[in-house]
Amino acid sequence: MFIFDEITVDSGSREELIDITSKVKSAINSNQIKTSGILLISSMHTTAGITVNESADPAVKSDIRNWLQRLIPQHNSFKHIEGNSDAHLKTSLIGPSVQIPIIDGKLILGTWQGIFFCEFDGPRKRKVKFTFTGE
Ligand code: ZN
Repeated sequence: MFIFDEITVDSGSREELIDITSKVKSAINSNQIKTSGILLISSMHTTAGITVNESADPAVKSDIRNWLQRLIPQHNSFKHIEGNSDAHLKTSLIGPSVQIPIIDGKLILGTWQGIFFCEFDGPRKRKVKFTFTGE
């Protein structure tokens, strides 16, 4: 079985971690996935990534965002003329995608884990691809 779908994400600020776990679960349901396999969740953008991290305490999201801002300040001696090199660097550090197992149609995540879309150059309308390969 191979399923390819899209999830849209509307970011509300320049830098933001958005929990998309419920959107991913909705896409699993709407695609009627009831088997087992691997789900690839991938950002289609060069200034936004995807990660899995704690969804229980919102302070973790802000700690990640604040740490990345300190590590890679927006205004620096970058050469890229678009002026958003910090967003490109942050995206490469976070990575463009995550793979998550699905067993019998159920997304396998730890108790405290959520899937986060990581916006680094918003606010924008964004696309996340949903690729399932399995039984
Ligand atoms: Zn750029």
